[in-house]
Parts: sequence; structure tokens; C-alpha cells
Amino acid sequence: MLVRTSIPRSVQSLLRLGGLVALVGCFPGAALALQEETAPSSGRARNVVLFVGDGVDDHILTVARNYLHGNVAGDEGFSFDRFEARAAAVVQTVAEDGTPVYVGDSASGGTALSAGVVTSRGRIATAAGTDRDVTTILEMARDAGLRTGIVTTSSVTDATPASFAAHIAVRFCEGPASMDGSGGGTRPGCPADKVGAGGPGSIAEQLAASRADLLLGGGLGAFSETTDAGDTSLDRARAAGYRVVEDAVSLAAVEELPVLGLFGPSTLPVEWTAEGGVKAAKVEVRGDAVVYPEPHRCVENPAFGSRPTLEAMTRKALELLGADGSRFFLMVESASIDKQAHAREACGHIGETQALDRSVNAALEFAEAHPETLVIVTSDHGHAAQIVPVPSLFASMIKLVGPQYPAGLVAVLDVPHGGVMGVTYGTNQGLVEEHTGSQIPVYAQGPGSERVRGLMRQADVFDVMREALGLRAEEP
Ligand code: MG
Ligand code: ZN
Repeated sequence: MLVRTSIPRSVQSLLRLGGLVALVGCFPGAALALQEETAPSSGRARNVVLFVGDGVDDHILTVARNYLHGNVAGDEGFSFDRFEARAAAVVQTVAEDGTPVYVGDSASGGTALSAGVVTSRGRIATAAGTDRDVTTILEMARDAGLRTGIVTTSSVTDATPASFAAHIAVRFCEGPASMDGSGGGTRPGCPADKVGAGGPGSIAEQLAASRADLLLGGGLGAFSETTDAGDTSLDRARAAGYRVVEDAVSLAAVEELPVLGLFGPSTLPVEWTAEGGVKAAKVEVRGDAVVYPEPHRCVENPAFGSRPTLEAMTRKALELLGADGSRFFLMVESASIDKQAHAREACGHIGETQALDRSVNAALEFAEAHPETLVIVTSDHGHAAQIVPVPSLFASMIKLVGPQYPAGLVAVLDVPHGGVMGVTYGTNQGLVEEHTGSQIPVYAQGPGSERVRGLMRQADVFDVMREALGLRAEEP
């Protein structure tokens, strides 16, 4: 929603004030003038590839590394374990009145990364309290003449990708049919963002008008919904010149931008699942015996189908965006790490973390040939999974203290490198697990990575990218 009003001081003080972009954006009516400085020099990147592992924290990474590589260190683990720079970032979120909140979501985390602005949960590149639009790194790069792209395993209208190229008050307003909250029961809608109210429309409508060069993920559902004008966002994307592809073979054949790849109605299927469909379960206590669920392994998900993998989408994005030596900004999200952790599916989030790693590897290969490429791997918020000892560290004290075992649901993984690994999910007794308030990792390699050090704020990642690309905001 494009309303510029003054921001309460309490919210202002919590907004990102370090960067001039955020600073300028804080003052009502101040126009942004984006300027690209010419040839990249030291610390300057021609390209930025930002990877977001949704819901990735140190526990999520360690679960996957243990299963995939064993409990190794350094270059035996993930591609990003070898990165030259590593930091931790605190996740910052506020309520609409500016009160600090200690657990974020993908909308607030996405907005911190994309625009360097601390906002409330559910908001897509809009400010808490005022609903003011905040300019994203993708928009700045686009307006400076760089190519831009978004790759995700969720719907392209989901919170993380939306945070880079759309502005809306509620993340669930993904398509025209969701603007009244009708698709989501009690979910609030986005009345002020409706086209009829002078707003920019749903996320799908905004993406179709975003002029991003490449959008790959799910989202056929939201893009096929009828707008108030009677057409669909897919119609509008085609009219704007996008080639629309819906399977891996068609994507591989694409040679020109812009391209819109929609490989399913919404979230794409995950790469891995639990062997035999094993679910995380409660530990049973039978008399004096504590009985854990049977150990299981992970297998490829037969439902994955003819879709491109995250790695294939990433490789295609790098090929197209980087063609002819063009400069670009690309955001790649492994989205279902989060969704599978919500669902307590350990193999699901292990497989999607592997997909993230393979995609980062593709970017490293690109960066080897194009060394002025900054690659960052980070996250939006922490998640529920925790590695716990199986059996309990205190199991031998059963006669003294009774049976000792985890409170939540437990998955026991038969690790191919030996031994078993217990993963518990204990943040919610109900339908799904919660996000958690942990700090999140930031890995970086390439020009600008020297600024990724120590303890950062999540919104600092925006500044690292902006400065590496030489994008700056100025008052005219
Ligand atoms: Mg996401
Ligand atoms: Zn989530």
C-alpha cells in the first residue's frame, strides 16, 4: 500500500537506521534516488546471489549435516561451511505499535533481508504501524539496470519471495481471491491493497507487474485466479512479455528473459521423505522401559515428479541472468525446510537442506568463473527441531528419578554414517510446530563478505548487499 504517513517514534527507533536507504525511507515524502556507481572496485560485487534457507538455524543445519555427512567439520560438510566469512544474526521483529517481538516469521524476516527494515510478522515489505512501502534490494537493483530474479520451492507468492518484489499488509493475500481473507477463514484480508481501493492488488498481480526478469517456483494457483478486471495474473505476465513454463524440460529450453516458471499450484513437492512414511512420534513408557520410535532412513520422494529441482532452477537462473556479462541480483529460497519442520518431517527438512547446499554449490561454480559475485547464505528465523540424546543422558537414573525422555514428538534417524540421531519437536502440542527465536547464521563469500562478521542484525544483510552492489539512496 502506497501510503506515506509519519511513523511513530517507537517504531522509527526500531527501524533500520544504519543505511541511507532506510534513513531516507523513514521520512515521509522523501523520494528515493538510486544511483549505481560505475565499475566495481575492491569490496564491490557485480552480482549478488542471496540464498535464504527458510527456518534455518544451527540445529536445522546440524540435523542435516549429521545425516548427510556425519559429524564432520570444515570442507567435509556443506558447500557454505567452506565460506570465508561467517556471522550470526539476531532476528528482529516488532508488533504493529513497535513493541519488540522475539519470534519472527518469513514475512518479517524476508522484509529485514530484502529492505533492511524491522517490521511486524505477516507484513510484506511494508512498515509496521504505517503500512508504508519499503524499497527492496531487488527493486533497487532493477532500477539501477541490473537483471533480477527469484527462485523458490514455495509458491512465488509465498512470504519470502514476495518480500523482495511486492508490498502488502498481509502475506496471505497471495492472489485476487484471498484479498478479503475469504480463502483463509479468520485471516484478515488486505482491503486497502485492493485495486478498487487504489492499491496495487494481490501479490500475484504485483509480481506480474514487478519487471523482475525471472520468477521460478510454484504459484499456478494464485496466478490463475481471476482479478477484479476479469483477467488473471498469468494473462498479465504473458502480456508483459514473460515466457511461461510449467515443467523441467520447458525450463531447460528457455534461452531468453523474462521468464515465469510455475511448476505447481503452490508449494512444490519436497525431494526427500521418510522411508515407509514413518512419522515423528511420542516416546512410550511401558513399566520401567522407555521405548523410542523405530529408527528410519530417508528416501527420495516419489511424488517429486517432472519438476526442476532447486539446483536446476538455480543453474538456469544463473545462466540466464549472467548471460552476456550482465550484472544481476538473484534470491534463491529453499522454502520447505521450514514447512517440513512445521510438519515434524525430519527427512523432509534434511532433503531440502541438501537441495539448498546443492544450489549454493551451483552458485559457487558460477562465482569461480565470475569472481565478482557475492554469495550469501542465511535464513529468516529459527525452527523447532532439536537433536537430543537417545536414550536420555539421565536414563540410568530411572530408579531414582523415574523414566527420562523428551516431551515432544521424536524422530529417530538411522544415520548412514553410523549410530542413531534423535530429533525432537516440542514447541506446540497441536497441529504444527512453531518458529523459534534463535539467532540465525549468515555465510558469505566474495566481494563484500568482509562485512559479514561477529554478531549482526538480520537487517544488516541488506546493507551488505546494497553496498556490495554499489547501490545507494540519495535525496535529490
Ligand atoms: Mg519462505
Ligand atoms: Zn514457518
